[in-house]
This record gives sequence, C-alpha cells and structure tokens, in this order.
Amino acid sequence: MVKTPTNFPVHNQVEQILLTLEQVYGPPAMQTGRFHPLDELIACILSQHTSDKNSLRAFNNLKTHFPSWEQVETAEAESIANVIRSGGLADSKAVRIKHALAAIRADRGTLELDFLRSMPDAEARQWLMNLPGVGPKTAAIVLCFALNRPVIPVDTHVFRVSWRLGLVPRKAGEGRAHDLLQAIVPDALVFRFHVALITHGRETCKAQNPRCGLCPVQTLCSHYLSTALSEKTT
Ligand code: SF4
Repeated sequence: MVKTPTNFPVHNQVEQILLTLEQVYGPPAMQTGRFHPLDELIACILSQHTSDKNSLRAFNNLKTHFPSWEQVETAEAESIANVIRSGGLADSKAVRIKHALAAIRADRGTLELDFLRSMPDAEARQWLMNLPGVGPKTAAIVLCFALNRPVIPVDTHVFRVSWRLGLVPRKAGEGRAHDLLQAIVPDALVFRFHVALITHGRETCKAQNPRCGLCPVQTLCSHYLSTALSEKTT
C-alpha cells in the first residue's frame, strides 16, 4: 500500500522528507559550530532582511574593522553602521548590536556567551530571548548553529514549507510552529531538517508560485495532494 501523510508515522514522514530533499539538494553546505556563540548572534542580527552573501560581507567587514567585541561595544553606532552597509538597514542594526552587547555586559560582566554551553536548552533559549532585539528565531539559530543544540530555527521558509507539507497547521504561525516541529523532528536531524527546508523554500517551494510539478516531495505534501484532488473534482 502506498503510504500517505495521513497514515505515515510522523517521525518517519519527517525523515522521508529530509532524505528526499537531501538527495536533490545535498547535505548542508556548512556545519554547526562555524562561529562562537556571540559571533553567531551578531551574524544573525546582520542577516535580517538581506541575503546570506551580503550579511556575511557585512560581518567580515565588522570583524576586520573591530577585531574584538569590546571595540564594537565602545564604538559609536555611526562608525559601526559605516562598516556594515553591505548588509542593509545598517543604522538600525548597529544600534541593535550595541544594545545586545550592552545587555550581555550588564548581565555577565564580560562579552562572551560560552557559559550557554553548560545551560539546558530551554534555559539558554530564554536567556537569549531576554536580550533586546532577540526573538525565538535568533535564539534558536545561536543554539542550533553555534552550540549544536537540537533547537529548530523557524524562519519564513521553514514555516511555509512545513505548513504546506502538513507538518504544522498554517494558523499556528511561526512561534507555535517552533514548538510543534520541535516535537516531531528527531533531535539528531534538527540542523539538517532546518537547512533542507530553507533550501527547498528558496529553490522550489517558493512563497509565490511553488514549483510543485518539479517538487521531489509532492507525494508527501498535504497542500499538493489537496490541490490536486480539488482540481480533479472540479
Ligand atoms: S508539492 Fe508544492 S507546495 Fe508541496 S512542498 Fe512541494 S513545492 Fe511546496
């Protein structure tokens, strides 16, 4: 019997989706642990509303001009903004970076986040979300990417692909989708699942006009199956 999303155990469905997507897009191009946690936090702030390429250029410029976070902490926001222009929204990002560093300094007395390594996931996530301008997605990226924790970052691509596939209800929104996905994605697959869904969202399951005819997981997709079914009956 052909297994469909309605009778397929959900963990197996997640694994099947992941393995199928990785056959097409390959495994993640980057590995976890590429940055220290504080570097990852700042890189994440710089990545908002811009491409990976532009945000990485802004991050590298920032590190070149200010080799330590202490130098960024004491620099004028305008000086920071001038070296991160390639990442867009430079003025507001410079202020956000300074606010985040000031909050870390106020709470920890130093500028480092290595203490998170010994904190349980939920506690570390909450600590990060207490920083100004740090929401659930940024906190999850720091934990998942820098500390290799099984915490799923849910961005617009991950959310859209997840609800289309039927893994979460659309009305859940990105916030609740995090909790729902966290419950069904095996810990060992969290990072790969996140990367695969982002890639699929960018390449195929686009916000406007998803390329369902070319999609490798169409037989596992609730949105596709329900659309195909409704077209057959009209
Ligand atoms: S079949 Fe279409 S809607 Fe479903 S995951 Fe693929 S591209 Fe997205």
